[in-house]
Amino acid sequence: MDLIAIAVPFFLALILAEFIYGIARGRNTYRLNDTINSLSMGSLSSLSGLVIVGGSALIYEFIVKTFQLTQLPAESTLVWVATFVLYDLAYYWKHRLGHEVALFWGSHVSHHQSEDYNLGTALRQTSIDFHGFLFLIPFFIVGVPGEVLVATVSLNLIYQFWVHTQHVPKLGPIEWIMVTPSNHRVHHARNDQYVDKNYGGVFIIWDRLFGTFQDELAEEPAVYGLRKPLNSWNPLWANTHVYWRLLIDFIKMKGIRNKVQLLFKPPGWLPADYTKTCKAAAPVDLKSKYDPKVAGITRAYVFGQFIITVVVSLSLAELATVASTVELWAAAGFIALSLFTHGYILDKRVRSTPLECSRLLLAVGLAYLLPLGAVLAAILSYSAAASLVMIAVGIVIRRPIFAAEGKRNDDGQLGQELPDASA
Ligand SMILES: [Zn+2]
Ligand SMILES: [Zn+2]
Repeated sequence: MDLIAIAVPFFLALILAEFIYGIARGRNTYRLNDTINSLSMGSLSSLSGLVIVGGSALIYEFIVKTFQLTQLPAESTLVWVATFVLYDLAYYWKHRLGHEVALFWGSHVSHHQSEDYNLGTALRQTSIDFHGFLFLIPFFIVGVPGEVLVATVSLNLIYQFWVHTQHVPKLGPIEWIMVTPSNHRVHHARNDQYVDKNYGGVFIIWDRLFGTFQDELAEEPAVYGLRKPLNSWNPLWANTHVYWRLLIDFIKMKGIRNKVQLLFKPPGWLPADYTKTCKAAAPVDLKSKYDPKVAGITRAYVFGQFIITVVVSLSLAELATVASTVELWAAAGFIALSLFTHGYILDKRVRSTPLECSRLLLAVGLAYLLPLGAVLAAILSYSAAASLVMIAVGIVIRRPIFAAEGKRNDDGQLGQELPDASA
């Protein structure tokens, strides 16, 4: 049973509740651009899961057939409890290596790019999880039943959802044993003393045992996000930017030993003689956030389009049961393109208008070609047609919906801003 799919509507409802609570308390922790980006990452992640699900089943089958020692009973409470606790230990090491090994950091980085911290951040998950199954192999070998393991992995991830909030303070003695909002805030912070701490998923005891625990300090408020910020709302780039950098360094670096170390040493590692030639790393910025200012009408437009993309995305699991592989890939490709385009507009990129128009034309085509169901096809095609008209009117009356933005520097920082479309 896919517990995560069942949990998704609850996740979305709780995100809305946290947003309303934050507004009511005068302490809103959400920004539209960041939230769209986090939810886009979650959507892409489940999309990739849907496409590669066959692959992991094959690996499981192979290992079970070749190496399994025994088969443990699925109805035993002890098996469930032991699997739950020991999987969290395995998760600790998977997570820790996800931070301390460059090759794995490229995958896990997706969870850490948000410079906000809210329940939406919890849904920021990678689309490139190629090594997660390694940490499940011991469970396969000792004969933990597949259904126990699948449920355990899901429950572990579902537990982690609620700790992504700034509204819950420290929880007294619970802080000693469990992962909580307070100790997980530390994990997401880029302050010097908080980096690479608190890797636990459900239990914080592993961090206390292995020396990676750090308490949240009143005198050091957490500043969230990467030490070298992403500065982009592009969810595809967010999934690949570390690998792109690694690939360039891997090609440029001399000596096979250095190349291997580049992949398996901590992120940012360089051979001793390379560091001399490197310019000094920029100091970590604890003051600013990436936040290109976008006109109200653009924000409303992207939000509306994003909701439609989410609806199409949520219907994909159902589509998978009736569509051919080609149709499924076409729908997945359209969703990925849509998420990319929403981010592209919020980044104020200069070619937003032609890109969005091409995407909308594609939407009208796909609405009729894919077996989406009458209601969804109608929503998609009418909203796309109406949006095209809206963009055309904006161009004619010289009030374009998308305020384009000029040059950026190497770090993705925006150059001089153009006046907003609403100005
Ligand atoms: Zn992490
Ligand atoms: Zn987290």
